Amino acid sequence: MNQVTAELNRAAVALAGCRRLLVLTGAGMSADAGVPTFRGHQGLWGDVDPEIYASLDGFLAEPDKVWEWYRQRRFEIASVEPHPGQRSLALLQRFSPEAMQVLVATTNEDDLLERAGLESVIQLHGSLFTTRCLDSCGWEVSDDADNAWSLRDCPRCGARTRPGSIWFGEKLDPELTQALEDFAADGCLVVGSSSVVQPIAAIPPEMALAGLPVVEVNIARTPLSDSVTVHLQGSAASILPHLVDQLTSAVIRAQQHTLNSSVEQAS
Ligand SMILES: [Zn+2]
Repeated sequence: MNQVTAELNRAAVALAGCRRLLVLTGAGMSADAGVPTFRGHQGLWGDVDPEIYASLDGFLAEPDKVWEWYRQRRFEIASVEPHPGQRSLALLQRFSPEAMQVLVATTNEDDLLERAGLESVIQLHGSLFTTRCLDSCGWEVSDDADNAWSLRDCPRCGARTRPGSIWFGEKLDPELTQALEDFAADGCLVVGSSSVVQPIAAIPPEMALAGLPVVEVNIARTPLSDSVTVHLQGSAASILPHLVDQLTSAVIRAQQHTLNSSVEQAS
């Protein structure tokens, strides 16, 4: 068994006993599919500082220009396809829900996980394809594929419309963070996340400290790497299909073992 296979096996065994697995995915997951990272846009939009454009002040200063930037990002994302790592997560989520519930939360604003077949993805930073009211009337439309609403005012209150993304300086939706808490995960898989954006970055190290299994998949080491159960170095697209394959096998083995033990006890 080579070292990579051994590490994959170790990660799968560590997570196989989880009843409620939390999967957190970050920019690296989408970058593998060819989605330009936030920072990557500086090449295309020379004068754009994402931290200004993706903020309320930036939008209020130049709403048309910011919307144009968002429309461009929608266009770019619509033209890429989910990769095997994202598709394998969809398989994992559907696998044997009685043995292991899988909740996927992401800081990515694209729709690649949904298009890969995942159900109920928690988009902590909002959705790029949602358009909503800039004011607080609560109006939003979840699919603005032809960008028509980006050019109109809110049909309910007449305020401007804005992208559904959570901007720099804005708080995460408390209902979403509560949903993560309520899930009460007993294991965590962190994929392609820089593990520096709070408050989400605090979850995996807290779980590791509590003795729960945490596996990290990343092309580079992160601030989290030293505290995880297993760090798997590589891209999400190349590692996840193998990890999910091993994990599902390990869950089946564990189920068979439990079944055999109960048969032995009964006889
Ligand atoms: Zn409104």
